[in-house]
Amino acid sequence: MSSGTRLVVLGIQGAGKGTQCVRLSHHYVASHISTGEMFRIAVMTRSPLGLKAKALVDAGELVPDDIVMAMVFERLDKDDTKNRGFILDGCPRTVAQAEALAEFLSPEDIDAAVDIVVPASMVMRRLLGRRVCVDCGHNYHLSAPPKVNWTCDICGGEVVQREDDNEETIRRRLALYDKETVPLVEWYRGRGQLESVNGVGSPDMVTARLVRAIDARRSKVERQP
Ligand code: AMP
Repeated sequence: MSSGTRLVVLGIQGAGKGTQCVRLSHHYVASHISTGEMFRIAVMTRSPLGLKAKALVDAGELVPDDIVMAMVFERLDKDDTKNRGFILDGCPRTVAQAEALAEFLSPEDIDAAVDIVVPASMVMRRLLGRRVCVDCGHNYHLSAPPKVNWTCDICGGEVVQREDDNEETIRRRLALYDKETVPLVEWYRGRGQLESVNGVGSPDMVTARLVRAIDARRSKVERQP
């Protein structure tokens, strides 16, 4: 189907997945596909998809697999992802989504599923302090705000707290992560596709670890006859 780097990036909410996916997409010149961002845009623009997904996204519930995967497959069918590869952020989230993705990509597959690992005790503080640009999705934190008056340093958009970054919704999202996404990590491990990377440390340190793990895996695959 495609050339280029093809990655699934996993990690509990607050592990730094969004930040690292942007960095990986620049490093590998591959398209960053964030399903959470796609749903937020759909909700903001009140598209038919957004109207269907709004209540679920606001409550921290998962959107049904068939709706998510139809949206992702449409995106994966575009020329940029076919030619340059993709960094999938926030999808798959369930084993059923991963099975559907593998079937869609077959006979090819992803290069790796990379799990960014941080202790659960770190994530609530990170998520409660997180602020995002409504226009470009760039992440900030109360402890590292944009330079001027909650205006995005990159695009000038307004920087706000996400609707679903409140304590009750975060608890629900973390519970769903344990129930639905932890089995997915094991599913990728069972297929020999999992790379677990320590997500504690500065963004630069974590990016360096990710690139090392991904490059090692890609060169191993390329060496195989
Ligand atoms: P995220 O930005 O990845 O935390 O996603 C925000 C919200 O979008 C989630 O809490 C879900 O409501 C929805 N969502 C994003 N990706 C998926 C997915 N792969 N499966 C189901 N729901 C999703």
